Amino acid sequence: MTNLPIVPHFINGRQVDTTSGLYADVFNPALGKPVAQVALGTAQEVDIAVAAAHEAFPAWSNTPPLARARVLFKYLQLMQQNADEFAAVLTREHGKTFADAQGEVARGIEVVEFAVGIPHLLKGEFTDQIARGIDAWSMRQPLGVVAGITPFNFPVMVPMWMFPIALACGNTFILKPSERDPSTSLMQAAMLKQAGLPDGVFNVIQGDKTTVDALIDHPDVQAISFVGSTPIAESIYQRGCAKGKRVQALGGAKNHMVVMPDADMQMAIDALIGAAYGSAGERCMAISVAVAVGDAGDKLVAALAERTRTLKINDGMAKDAEMGPVVSQAAKQRIERLIGQGVEEGATLVVDGRGHKVAGHETGFFVGGTLFDHVTPAMTIYKEEIFGPVLSVLRAPDVATAVKLINDHEFGNGVAVFTRDGGVAREFVRQIQCGMVGVNVPLPVPMAFNSFGGWKRSMFGDHHIYGPEGIRFYTRHKAVMQRWPDASKSAGAEFAFPQMK
Ligand code: NAD
Repeated sequence: MTNLPIVPHFINGRQVDTTSGLYADVFNPALGKPVAQVALGTAQEVDIAVAAAHEAFPAWSNTPPLARARVLFKYLQLMQQNADEFAAVLTREHGKTFADAQGEVARGIEVVEFAVGIPHLLKGEFTDQIARGIDAWSMRQPLGVVAGITPFNFPVMVPMWMFPIALACGNTFILKPSERDPSTSLMQAAMLKQAGLPDGVFNVIQGDKTTVDALIDHPDVQAISFVGSTPIAESIYQRGCAKGKRVQALGGAKNHMVVMPDADMQMAIDALIGAAYGSAGERCMAISVAVAVGDAGDKLVAALAERTRTLKINDGMAKDAEMGPVVSQAAKQRIERLIGQGVEEGATLVVDGRGHKVAGHETGFFVGGTLFDHVTPAMTIYKEEIFGPVLSVLRAPDVATAVKLINDHEFGNGVAVFTRDGGVAREFVRQIQCGMVGVNVPLPVPMAFNSFGGWKRSMFGDHHIYGPEGIRFYTRHKAVMQRWPDASKSAGAEFAFPQMK
């Protein structure tokens, strides 16, 4: 037993502790010390949460879309008023800087701003007179109970990629947050309740693989949204599909930024530093590979090295911190092991972030900014997602080689090209096999009214997440054809396949 606060489930409108007796430590990564303990739920607790959501579904799905939107409007206001409180808890459990956490909360709120337009977004199509006396229309209806399983790196934003849209469409929702930074999930649940969301419509089940498996296997869960690492995304996709469910499973990434010799070099360097080391590289859209084309390489590496050495690394709550710690001791060890492997496999280690210490935070999980040059496609540090503050520079003789390199990689999440040449940029956009492309934009994260998703092994499933794709994912399309009896025109039984007459 410890005196640490417990992070419980939220089921049917109230907090409930687990009966498993199992808890996992939740750390403040800047201190390297536990600050809470999260419940690890059981399959029986998943059953209870799904039953609550199942029971709440008929009333919620029959609530007019405008009334559902009004609940979300209140929730939007509450989120806006409490954004900094969310950001502070996020920094404490994740480690990212407070300013970065504020950005995360703001990007989550934008999805609610999109979802409150649901009365308009759910409008169907109508065609008068598809045949004599017959009209046709389409409508989209909610699925039922849907579940979201989310990663540690955006504990506020990624759940908000899912539930505002799922709820607006009339579904009921079960969130399984990351066990590493679970506290904001309960803040969101409390705020939805305060906004007037009926009990059972939004539930949180804490836990790990046991709860995830129980959610996927549960016959009353109709659809799964997953965001996390590729091996888990793939297994959840396969398991969910085998059970006949709708699954969107977003996975890992290795995002490249191509720097052409004609690029605005200062702009490219600033972009690379922010995109590689922001959030300690723990973003699925982080740039972890720079591809220097032609003679761009030497200038680029010299400037990057200088800036990487002077990164301000500190507790995320420190005012001037540019980068905080990584999420756990295990993450720190894994990143440092991969840096060692890069050296062993022959890459040039220009800046070594291993063993980084922050005064006053000696037990924190800090890794310094790390820069490799002369990385090749055969190296482990190129092939694997490191998910830490490690930037690899590769050299390519021309843009065609750079495009082939990127297209040959197993991941295809985000990518960017920095150039002043419109023709090069246009062809790059057309040829590249990634889901999100930036032209002189390092982190091309689509806005809430567009949709987010990668290609290749960065995403399993068909519909990208949030935006119009989110509406499609959380609803089923129904086609209706209607005519009214007109005795004078009855032609008797028709045995031929119906045609327009
Ligand atoms: P993770 O895959 O370890 O965990 C994600 C979720 O799955 C968590 O809720 C976790 O409890 C659960 N989980 C873990 N192991 C499981 C198992 N064996 N079976 C069932 N469920 C399991 O990912 P993470 O470390 O929390 O997050 C980082 C990863 O997420 C990175 O790979 C990153 O690229 C990816 N990510 C991708 C996107 C995207 O949009 N493509 C966005 C954010 C993060």
